[in-house]
Amino acid sequence: MPELMKWFDSVETDAPFDTCKVCAHPLDFSETWVVNKHYHRDECVMEYAVCEECRDEVSGKFSEDSKAAIRSFLESEIDWEQRMLDWMALDNPTERLDSCVACRIPRFLAEGFAISAQFRQDGGLIEGALPLLMCSDCVARITASLSPQSREVWKDFVARNFEGPDAEDTGFGIF
Ligand SMILES: [Zn+2]
Ligand SMILES: [Zn+2]
Repeated sequence: MPELMKWFDSVETDAPFDTCKVCAHPLDFSETWVVNKHYHRDECVMEYAVCEECRDEVSGKFSEDSKAAIRSFLESEIDWEQRMLDWMALDNPTERLDSCVACRIPRFLAEGFAISAQFRQDGGLIEGALPLLMCSDCVARITASLSPQSREVWKDFVARNFEGPDAEDTGFGIF
């Protein structure tokens, strides 16, 4: 799966991520980690890896209402059964990232998109609901369903960990 994995390398270093963006610990200390990258058109505008512990900490700050809203979006807007069948039938696993997991718009038509993958301790890709691609419109719909308080959690995460992009510009990260 080298081609699929390549999508989740850091654009900045042109190599796989090796440290958590939040706690700066080496990722191989963690049982799993997630890599998220946000694109505007073809340009990567934000990228990061987060270890399991930091990810739990950030998502733990989201309100119960917001967690329920995210769950309900993922359950009602994504036909997981069909996606899994589609993905299993692909000749090239990289084609998973050719369209939005929710609305199915092709990647090249989307104004922006986010991709997300989960890795295990040995650096291997965990294949399940992730890796996935979500277009910026669908990401914006999730963001809109969050409580103001949870949106603050996300803005604060971006402000503390990144220079430059505004949380409003990049949309919500997939946690
Ligand atoms: Zn961490
Ligand atoms: Zn979409």
